[in-house]
Amino acid sequence: MPQQSALEYIRHGQTPFFRLPMADLAAKGPSAYAGADVVLLGVPYDSGTTYQPGARLGPYHLRRTSALVESFHPGHKLDVFERLRALDGGNVVSPPFNAGQARELVQVEVATVLEAGAIPFLAGGDHSITLPALRAIAAHHGPVAVVHVDAHFDTSGPEVWGEPHHHGTPIRHALTEGHVKRGHLFQIGMRGGWKDSDERALSDSHDARIYPMDVVDVGGVGPLAREIRDRVGDGPVYLTVDIDGIDPAFAPGTGTPVPGGLTSREALRLVRELAGVNLCGMDLVEVCPALDHADITCHLGAALLFEGLALAALGSRK
Ligand code: MN
Ligand code: MN
Repeated sequence: MPQQSALEYIRHGQTPFFRLPMADLAAKGPSAYAGADVVLLGVPYDSGTTYQPGARLGPYHLRRTSALVESFHPGHKLDVFERLRALDGGNVVSPPFNAGQARELVQVEVATVLEAGAIPFLAGGDHSITLPALRAIAAHHGPVAVVHVDAHFDTSGPEVWGEPHHHGTPIRHALTEGHVKRGHLFQIGMRGGWKDSDERALSDSHDARIYPMDVVDVGGVGPLAREIRDRVGDGPVYLTVDIDGIDPAFAPGTGTPVPGGLTSREALRLVRELAGVNLCGMDLVEVCPALDHADITCHLGAALLFEGLALAALGSRK
């Protein structure tokens, strides 16, 4: 399903992701996504943020900036949107005041995409949206491998804020609820101070493969991407990218920045080098446009989503 040309896109004045066609939002259930290989959903929800809010506007600005991304991927020698029938599925709409309802609505919509036979791609929104996405993914595929790019482990417990759910807890719940295949959580980009020496204990107890920035600094992203590919084999892989995994010098538009992260090039190359994995879903979260400068973070977010779409396109070529 090709992109619309720049002229068509400017003429109608709407801003779907990557100049793609919109799903039929009047249709109910999976028929809205009939025939799609991939459905991109915006999730304008950030009531799970603990520091600077604003990621709820991520989907709008990611749509706008993604219009600059062209379809042919020269690295993979592949026209991504010729290969993939990709649709913009609109936003998952929820009132910002009810976190439980927001999670349910995300889970239902991701399940609907899966029921239609398509791969869900989510543009957040804060990182709390990953848990309901993974609940739907695991209900469909069983426990999956999860590649998690982030400055943080996101395995906080309720003792920190007195709440079991916020943007620092999705990986805790995904692990304890059994959505992640044992030994197949890959956490990349962790750094900064921890609340105590047990920060990675939960991940370790699930045999996660952890690549903090100290490890990335030594070997680069190539060897770790190879390790991930070898370990996951043909099994389904969910990719969750918290934009704060990338250094705030390259991605300033995010609510909880931590210095010393991946460069843009490392992050893009990491996703590119996952070529060949069986991607079952992706989210890109924590882009906060109000804190961005010259759309740097939004353009990177769109580029990372495109690298993920290229992985899905490579998979559909098999
Ligand atoms: Mn983070
Ligand atoms: Mn996170």
